[in-house]
Parts: sequence; structure tokens; C-alpha cells
Amino acid sequence: MAFLTEPAPVYGAVETVVPGVRRLVAPNPGPMTYRGTNTWLLDGPDGVTVIDPGPDSAPHVAALVAATDGKVARILLTHTHFDHVGAASALKAATGAPTLAFTRPQRQDFHPDHPLADGDIIADLTALHTPGHASDHLCFAWRDGIIFTGDHVMSWNTSIVSPPDGDMAAYMDGLRRLLARDDTLYLGGHGPPLPEPQALVRAMLGHRMGRESAILATLGAQPKHPAAIVDMLYAGLDAGLKRAAERTVLAHLLKLKAEGRAADHQGGWRLV
Ligand SMILES: [Zn+2]
Repeated sequence: MAFLTEPAPVYGAVETVVPGVRRLVAPNPGPMTYRGTNTWLLDGPDGVTVIDPGPDSAPHVAALVAATDGKVARILLTHTHFDHVGAASALKAATGAPTLAFTRPQRQDFHPDHPLADGDIIADLTALHTPGHASDHLCFAWRDGIIFTGDHVMSWNTSIVSPPDGDMAAYMDGLRRLLARDDTLYLGGHGPPLPEPQALVRAMLGHRMGRESAILATLGAQPKHPAAIVDMLYAGLDAGLKRAAERTVLAHLLKLKAEGRAADHQGGWRLV
């Protein structure tokens, strides 16, 4: 897949991506977060709309307050994984801005001031419920073909889909939902902006369909554990990534089970 790369940013420095949209990358780089979480700042008549305040990081919150002059109108969450929502309460305390997130947050200890549902419009942004990576995931479609895609579609890598909150069938449906739109620029939760996004989304969907067929081909009458399937399909995989691969395989198996094509018994999986 044609993923994008970018150099490590100067943490704390604000970058204008398109007129009215700025990005501040949080200082939480890592194998799952690339250069760090992207916090997006949208200038508006009533102040700045912040999308994904990022991880619990005092320097990042201070940089956000400085970049917005403290004039934050609202804090939107694409989903409530901690690298996106961790800074929400500190930024709210510093600016008085309300938080907005999907009506049923995945995190039990986070309660948005304003719950959002699919199709809700707030500050020129339309919320699209796109579960799969996270059950509470929203994309926010803006104007001029720009959409904030959170961790649903990212330019630098595929998304993690880890059951039970992650759902492969929903994730693939969500990819198809984006493919049916004609957005021209994706601004994701990690990684650089993604222009002409359709080709990558199509490749992501094709990758998942190929993976599903490969998993199905490993199954037989004898039950097989997801770890054994990982060993067969992901040759030479780094030991540290095996656990994540196992979660992905499980996500595919659960989709196949829901479709009546695979069955499980005591952790083992076989053909129906
Ligand atoms: Zn996430």
C-alpha cells in the first residue's frame, strides 16, 4: 500500500495545512502513533474548534492554549482512545470549552458535554459514525472536500481493529462509506495529510478482503487457534507485533462467524 511518511515534527510548533486549518502534533510518537497524535485546529467565528486534543500531556495542552490564545469554542473527539481524549479534561479546564463525542463513548470514565450522533452538524462539521477501529468513532466532514478521519483512515498505516470494541465488518463498511463520498483531502489522527485518498482506501479494503480469504483458506475441520493462523500468514513478523496481528485475525474470524462461514470452540476456529 502507498503509505505516506513525514519527518518528525518540531513538537509544539503549529503548522497551517490549508487556510483555516492548523495542525499541532502531540509529543507521543511510537509504533502505534507514528509521529504522535494530530490535533487539528479550525478557526471559526466563535473561536477555535479543536479536533482530538491528544494524549494527557501538559506541554501539548500548553501549546494548544498558546496556539488558540485560549479561545477554544469546542473540543471534538473522533473517538475516546487515550491518545486522543487524554488531554480533553485539561484543555477544557484551561479554556472552558465543552467536549463533544459520540453518544456512547467507549471509555466509561469519559462523559461528553454534548453527545453526537451520526449526521449531527456542529460548526460546519458533519459527524459520520464510522465504527470499526473503535465503536464510538466519528469522522467529521468539513467543506471543500476535507474530512477529518481520525484513526478510521490514516495516511501512514492501516488501522488497528481489535475485538471486542473493534469490529472488522463495521470497519470495512466504514471504508465503503468513505469510498462512496468524493472527499479530496483526509486529515487523520496520525500521519501527514492524505490527498487523493480514494486509491489508498480502495487498497485498504482490498487488503482486508485478501486477508480474509487467506484466513479462510487456513481453516479446516480441525480447530485452529488465531496464534497458529498468525504464524502461517505473517511470516517473519516481529515478536512485538504478534499480539496485534492475533487481534486482527480474531476480528476477521468474528466477521466470518457472523456471516456463518466459520465457527469457534474453546478458542479454536474451523470451517462451518
Ligand atoms: Zn484509536
